[in-house]
Amino acid sequence: MSNERGFIVVIAAPSGAGKTTICREIERRRDDVVYSISVTTRERRMNEKDKIDYYFKTKEEFEEMIREKQFVEWAIVHGNYYGTPKNSIKGLIENDRIVIMDIDVQGARSIRKEFPDSSVLIFVMPSDIKTLKDRLLNRNQDNMDTIRKRLHNAKEEIEKINEFDYIVINNELEKAIDDVDGIINSECLKTFNNEKLIGKFKEDLSNEERIL
Ligand code: 5GP
Repeated sequence: MSNERGFIVVIAAPSGAGKTTICREIERRRDDVVYSISVTTRERRMNEKDKIDYYFKTKEEFEEMIREKQFVEWAIVHGNYYGTPKNSIKGLIENDRIVIMDIDVQGARSIRKEFPDSSVLIFVMPSDIKTLKDRLLNRNQDNMDTIRKRLHNAKEEIEKINEFDYIVINNELEKAIDDVDGIINSECLKTFNNEKLIGKFKEDLSNEERIL
């Protein structure tokens, strides 16, 4: 299925809910979807690559980008800067692409404000807090202090769940990916997202009427 109007799919979730994997898999499955690579000042993890997972910058470089208004949105998450660079987003949407982004709840809110008619907000949740905690502990990426901070933030994020359009429970990764894929398909089928097709149909009908 392909879309005729670009839009943004925001995937927000507490850390450890599996949203990065979901975003990457959706991008792999669908050729109409592009992943938005964020800029961050957080330290690069062992398995991460610059310009693929994030654009890793220093605090000074990030602050310079803020001054130059290079972000669609930016936020401080778990004590580090994170931001969505403007450069490609608007162009991609105008070219009818679907941009998927893995950002926090503050970022989701900013995207909704900036693109009220072209954004779909999905909140991904694990089925319970124990699963979330186990995932954070098992991925061996962060120290206990960071994990504690992330669990605290999760509580605050879940408070804002009503601002989202959809909730996807990530109990089983494949099912969660299928759910997000299904949401994107539904968005593509919205009347609002098919105005060119409808316009063409109307025009053809008028032509038929003239001929008959
Ligand atoms: P992590 O450090 O685990 O990769 O990401 C930490 C949090 O920052 C996650 O909730 C992630 O979604 C969020 N995040 C990543 N990129 C951005 C961004 O560009 N903007 C905002 N607001 N949050 C982001």
